Amino acid sequence: YGDASQKIDYVFKVVLIGDSAVGKSQILARFARNEFSLDSKATIGVEFQTRTLVIQHKSVKAQIWDTAGQERYRAVTSAYYRGAVGAMLVYDITKRQTFDHIPRWLEELRSHADKNIVIILIGNKCDLENQRAVPTEDAKEFAEKEGLFFLETSALESTNVETAFLTVLTEIFNIVN
Ligand code: GDP
Ligand code: MG
Repeated sequence: YGDASQKIDYVFKVVLIGDSAVGKSQILARFARNEFSLDSKATIGVEFQTRTLVIQHKSVKAQIWDTAGQERYRAVTSAYYRGAVGAMLVYDITKRQTFDHIPRWLEELRSHADKNIVIILIGNKCDLENQRAVPTEDAKEFAEKEGLFFLETSALESTNVETAFLTVLTEIFNIVN
């Protein structure tokens, strides 16, 4: 029960955005395949991965899009955002600059995506507490001000990755039902 062989009630497209090297591809690998790699090179070509889960007795196929390295050239196209009902806005808690760029990503998201898109702010690499450069409070405050969900995650240790996706997917589910 709950595997991909059953009929699909919903397909939800969710996009991952944020600066290069914050851990987007590893968050996706953790969610879609329960894998992690410490030496992941720039993402190669894969457009999206899917995982089917059950929410309130309905099967929901999450189709999660990864930027495939386009973030380096600020070349994320409008096709990437088209049809997205959820977005995960990722920064690295050890790199202040990746958090400082979040307003830009949010602006880009709001200009390209549907206005009702469900957004979660994610502070990744929370396993590296001793290298923390972004206080949790700063991010929490920003998220509240902008009306975003917020969680700190570790793709390496699996912390909150499942919860982050479930938060977005359940909120989308509740909106369409
Ligand atoms: P992307 O460019 O945003 O897709 O970032 P990647 O997923 O390729 O990750 C960039 C680097 O950060 C890789 O070396 C990953 O192994 C590492 N990384 C990703 N997530 C975590 C995490 O949660 N903790 C730690 N310590 N390293 C991570
Ligand atoms: Mg990547």
